[in-house]
Amino acid sequence: MNRIWCLILSFLMLSVYAQEDKNKGHYDESPFKQLKEELPTPNMFRTASGAPGPAYYQQQADYKMSIRLDEEKDVIYGDETITYTNNSPDMLEYLWVQLDQNMRAADSPTKMLYESKADTRPMTIETYSKRYREGAFDGGFKLELLQDANGKDMQFIINQTMMRIDLEKPLAPTEKISFRIKWNYNINNYRKEGEGGRSGFELMEDGNKIYVIAQFFPRMAVYNDVEGWQNMQFWGRSEFALPFGTYDVSITVPDDHVLNATGKLMNEKEVLSNQQYQRMQQAWKSYDKPVMIVNEAEATKAEKSRSKKMKTWKFFADNVRDFAFSSSRKFIWDAMAVKLNDKDVIAMSLYPREANPLWEEYSTRTVAHTLKEYSNLTFDYPYHKAISVSAEDQGMEYPMICWNFGRPTKDGYVSDRTKYGMIAVIIHEIGHNFFPMIVNSDERQWTWMDEGLNTFLQYTTEQNFKKSFPNEVFPEGFDSFPSRRGAPKDIVEYMSMPQKVLEPIMTQGDHVHNFGANAYGKPGTALVVLRNTVMGKKLFDHAFRTYANRWKFKHPTPADFFRTMEDASAMDLDWFWRGWFYTTWYVDMGIEKVTPYYLQKTQVNGENRLQFVEKSNEIDPAEFKKMKELKQLDSKMDPKVRKDLKNPTYFYEVVYNRPGKLIMPLLVTFEFEDGTVKEVRYPYMMWRLNDETFTKFYGFDKPVKKITIDAKQETADIDISNNVWTVM
Ligand SMILES: [Zn+2]
Repeated sequence: MNRIWCLILSFLMLSVYAQEDKNKGHYDESPFKQLKEELPTPNMFRTASGAPGPAYYQQQADYKMSIRLDEEKDVIYGDETITYTNNSPDMLEYLWVQLDQNMRAADSPTKMLYESKADTRPMTIETYSKRYREGAFDGGFKLELLQDANGKDMQFIINQTMMRIDLEKPLAPTEKISFRIKWNYNINNYRKEGEGGRSGFELMEDGNKIYVIAQFFPRMAVYNDVEGWQNMQFWGRSEFALPFGTYDVSITVPDDHVLNATGKLMNEKEVLSNQQYQRMQQAWKSYDKPVMIVNEAEATKAEKSRSKKMKTWKFFADNVRDFAFSSSRKFIWDAMAVKLNDKDVIAMSLYPREANPLWEEYSTRTVAHTLKEYSNLTFDYPYHKAISVSAEDQGMEYPMICWNFGRPTKDGYVSDRTKYGMIAVIIHEIGHNFFPMIVNSDERQWTWMDEGLNTFLQYTTEQNFKKSFPNEVFPEGFDSFPSRRGAPKDIVEYMSMPQKVLEPIMTQGDHVHNFGANAYGKPGTALVVLRNTVMGKKLFDHAFRTYANRWKFKHPTPADFFRTMEDASAMDLDWFWRGWFYTTWYVDMGIEKVTPYYLQKTQVNGENRLQFVEKSNEIDPAEFKKMKELKQLDSKMDPKVRKDLKNPTYFYEVVYNRPGKLIMPLLVTFEFEDGTVKEVRYPYMMWRLNDETFTKFYGFDKPVKKITIDAKQETADIDISNNVWTVM
């Protein structure tokens, strides 16, 4: 390349760099500035240590509901009584109730949020009709009645997905109020274009449906010391904030359906056949493999007819923040016991024959594996059961029950992508029982608090897959579970993106460009890095467990997490939270220059001196032989002391640099000519003055062949082309 071209090229690169300088711009500040301005002032509700304070309170919402599913019309009916207890020190003039299904109302503004473009591909008549000739699907709530405990109508106003109930007199601290709501809505076909959603039914090829029903009843909003009423609208993406309470629910469905839900099945003997009941008793004793409660032959028989009779399933749940259920006559049902320290819980799955043989082999055993792994890093799973339901295109969590995608193709083919995608989603959604179902963070405000923590635990659970599946053979090129998220190198693509599509993790989820990478991948990876590279497993695991235990069955905020991790470990992590959670900085460290030196003998005023001399060409071993003469200089020394002296003969000055602003420990690996390796892990504090370079002088007793930083790709360094130096 001639000089002119070099100049033009470097000018071009400079101008690209100037536009894309991620280290400057609107988050330009010291990476070591403490978080005092970002975190709320500690108070009696939430302490400076990150624990709940002496005045901590939370509201209670208890539900009694009768639900009826009309399979012919696809309408669900509910008659619901909510008893709300005001444990706050505040007088409440009104209550806010969430009407999530209104997001699917015909006039919902959610439908106006998304751009549409001319689609010039050929389409079927059905698609054309659906898009341009049919009216919008109306899946919003139809409220039939809202009455107080005396049967008197209550005043209310609905603002999109939130309903304010105005009280005749304010609800005082410690007081309770009961009210009744009757409602119904049209159940959406969630796989149909324009309907979608986390809830609804899947229409199967044989005309049967798999119902996965959630966010299906008016639910109390959270009132607390942080938000007052958490009544941010549900726009379809950022999830839910819900208080804990009890659920006493009866669900009436066609009597040939198999149904399961959040909570304890209260009329097991009534709704199960004698044989099913006996099989369930066996399942509670089967720790190594699932027992079929409803087997494939029975499910296949059931799907061939339609019963006109109805059956009511009754559930009771305590200390849950939500309730969901799934129902279908197509369901195969299996279950196995899981031992967690001194208690047993039951892992279960519901799936149609179309999901086999994949589901009978993996689903329930994956549930069991997940409960063990998550319990190990947090607390023992406190509920008695956890259920994985097969529902295509879904990955959604509720207390004790979740919906998961992944089935073989019609001709029975299971790709690695389908199989490991299905296992990963089951781990993820079952894992959500811990965050946010039990450690009940505000999903509407902070997606990362459940998705990020959960993605971290999902990754560790995936990487420990062999513990429960010792015979598993992973796809070619993988020596462990092929995790999609969690490994630091997998977040590099996202963190290298143009700044205009990057937001800090601490951004409300509706305003994020790359939701999955921002709210799942990046915080999940941050915790992997924090555990493996910054804190070490011992300190991290204790602090993480402390956070989980302090906040289980409570409502934590980001500050409670950040503070607890520091409080329990004696590590100032403000730089870490700032860099990973409050900015869009990236990690890039490199080796700028390596200069070999040798030591020579010299004379100053007739006296012997030693002096380092730069050796900029290749290292000539002959030069180092001179070093042997140095031993003479030690001749006056006590031989015992002399014996222990090191004799480094190969010296190097290494200039490390940091083109990326995100601070990380510097991990250096030296490889020597004799094949040996030495690793030096510098703490993040080496960058304490926010310098752009860091220089170190080393003496070794053998020549260095290669220097690599972040050799195992632990830090999410976005450019590894500057990470290696090799001797010329
Ligand atoms: Zn999730």
